[in-house]
Amino acid sequence: MVAAAGRGSRFGGPKQRALLLGRPLYVHALSDLLAHPAVVAAVLAVAAGEEERFRRELAAYGWHRRVEVVAGGESRTASVRRALTALPRDGLEAVLVHDAARPSAPAHLVDALLAALSGAEGAVPVLPVADTLRWRRERGGPARDEVGRVATPQAFRLEALLAAHERAWAEGREATDDAQLVEAAGGRIAVVPTQDGRLEKVTRPEDLTMAALRLAGPEGLWPRVGVGLDHHRLVVGRPLWLCGVRIPSAEGLEGHSDGDVALHALANAILGAAGERDIGTHLPPGDPATAGMASGRVLALAVGRARARGLGVVQAQVTITSPRPRLAPHVPAMVASLARALALEEARVAVHATSGEGLIADAMEAHAVAVLAPQAAIRGWDGS
Ligand code: MG
Repeated sequence: MVAAAGRGSRFGGPKQRALLLGRPLYVHALSDLLAHPAVVAAVLAVAAGEEERFRRELAAYGWHRRVEVVAGGESRTASVRRALTALPRDGLEAVLVHDAARPSAPAHLVDALLAALSGAEGAVPVLPVADTLRWRRERGGPARDEVGRVATPQAFRLEALLAAHERAWAEGREATDDAQLVEAAGGRIAVVPTQDGRLEKVTRPEDLTMAALRLAGPEGLWPRVGVGLDHHRLVVGRPLWLCGVRIPSAEGLEGHSDGDVALHALANAILGAAGERDIGTHLPPGDPATAGMASGRVLALAVGRARARGLGVVQAQVTITSPRPRLAPHVPAMVASLARALALEEARVAVHATSGEGLIADAMEAHAVAVLAPQAAIRGWDGS
């Protein structure tokens, strides 16, 4: 079972929904567990009222038949107790309890935890302590090699965990993990030492960056660069749109959409950086549904495709060749428009304009460069 009902008060929001390498945090935890051959069923405890949202998302991963979603309680202990009631009982010997805040459940660790249940009622992974420890109110402290940090997943014999939760419920006892409850009920807990950094908990937003680094390696954080190019013919009697700004002009750009050559080039740059094919593939020209469309939608489509791959735009530049009109007076408005559309500060957006020296007479040309970064490296990315 995976506990994903927390409020994330230290994170500043429900962190189980935060995106890590393009997937919500809780999906990483579930995905490892579901891939393990010993796992026959999974229960996800979520905040009350959020069940349908999670069920829809699980369906998108094809997991709706394998994962039961239940409403959690007011505390972690209450959430796990509710999830326990949803577990199938027939033939089930052991249960793994995992926190959605830890985006991995490595198979080697699950194997070691389950093996440890032969001599104990529960087994917990324990990470080393790197710092010297000190009691807050007394002299000295425990030697750091005598203590460790308890992580999840934790493995329990099902009957022992059920009994421990029943007893905790009767006594009104709460605990920060289930091993404490099993131990309080007289059960033995085996320690499985591990140095696997993928078990580190995501507590603060910056922890997502480290989690991405641990799961994907350094290349998971590398920026991506894309280049886009587009041309549209200048014709009399069309409005002129560039970077989403209406520019006063006797001529405008021909096109199936509003002809915004700058946004098309930029959308292609973003799609290219995300490893996607160009906008013509996503929005075939001539489709009546997109006739006269504002090209802001084209840009939004490209941003959305990148986002689905866990990437966000962190920098953009467009260079427009315009034989007429002169674009310099409109550059600040175009920069502001792009910054707004990309949710970037203006310093990360540049629009350059050139006349083309008469080499291009009856058309506009736009070149664009987009820099994308993995979402884990972007401040404020909350996955909502
Ligand atoms: Mg175009």
